[in-house]
Amino acid sequence: SYPAHVAALKPYVPGLPISAVAARSGIAQDRIVKLASNENPLGASPKALAALSRAAIDLSRYPDSDCAALSDAIAAFHDVPRDWIVVGAGSESVLGNLVSTLLQPGRSTAYSQYSFQAYVNAAQKLGATSTVVPSPDFRVDLEGLADAIQPSTALVYIANPGNPTGTVVDPDALEAFLDRVPAHVVVLLDEAYFEFMPADLRGDSVAWVRRHPNLVVTRTFSKAYGLAGLRIGYGIAQSGLSDVMRRVRSPFTISDAAQVAAIAALDDVEFIEQTVAMTDQGRSALISGLGAKGYRCIRSHTNFILADVGGGAAFASRLEKQGLIVRPVTAYGLADWVRISIGTPAEIGRILAVPSGVNTS
Ligand code: PMP
Repeated sequence: SYPAHVAALKPYVPGLPISAVAARSGIAQDRIVKLASNENPLGASPKALAALSRAAIDLSRYPDSDCAALSDAIAAFHDVPRDWIVVGAGSESVLGNLVSTLLQPGRSTAYSQYSFQAYVNAAQKLGATSTVVPSPDFRVDLEGLADAIQPSTALVYIANPGNPTGTVVDPDALEAFLDRVPAHVVVLLDEAYFEFMPADLRGDSVAWVRRHPNLVVTRTFSKAYGLAGLRIGYGIAQSGLSDVMRRVRSPFTISDAAQVAAIAALDDVEFIEQTVAMTDQGRSALISGLGAKGYRCIRSHTNFILADVGGGAAFASRLEKQGLIVRPVTAYGLADWVRISIGTPAEIGRILAVPSGVNTS
């Protein structure tokens, strides 16, 4: 029989794949718009695509398990030593490495209400207990989080910006929080949506890593860089932590294709700027369009919004009939709400064109 904490696990429910919606709705795949997983609607970084088409990748060979060239490129990008970089098959896998080095039954973790579900599952499956700090305004209560730290606390998780909330934490408050966290507690600062944050709201998280040997910052190529399908992300931490994270990592999980594409994407400043500019405009259009229908949205600094539509599942299934995939957030305890990724102007137009009306399903 399974340990009780394993038996109690609930599956992570991702956004529906386009193929699944096409199969059950009969709508052609190219008419279906997926705005459920915060992907880049412009596609992948063109520099990454060009590098992939040039690269002679031998599929019969295992990839470089150490991700040497990519680690060098990321270390140069952030101006940190190469051994501070831990590459993973998506930042979620870096998160998985970190929790497996720290959590076990008898140890605990602390995080804000409405934290990223994959993190909650990752902690649960190791049998750690969790302290969830209430977030009535959809923001991370840093004071509450610091107060929640106990002798058994091994890890504190903060996503900035958060998912599914889209809210950010104040950089000065975050810095003060890091100063307050005792040395036996590791802080995971998940910056999956960092590129979408306006400059004046960003903290210098790499400088914080330099000052705090108990801090891990994670970033991903899945969102702004448009490489979700290749599964690639990384963590930055001082040598003590990064070394142990590398030791628990499974070898060969990061393909050479992912490594080649990520190196080129890091350089694609233009694409990131274009993505962020389109996202900023799209987010305003979506929020005001939904507002005109009477739906309230939380102020977001990411490539998605959280909207109170008075029944997320029914809203999502109404849109699905039009070939539009959005994400109910019932698993987060937000049954009235839905999360919608920012698409292209045309995609946002299709979302807003769906009549609000009474939910029928
Ligand atoms: N952190 C947050 C807050 C996320 O929303 C996501 C993706 N949904 C991830 C991490 C993981 O992304 P990936 O594994 O693709 O890097």
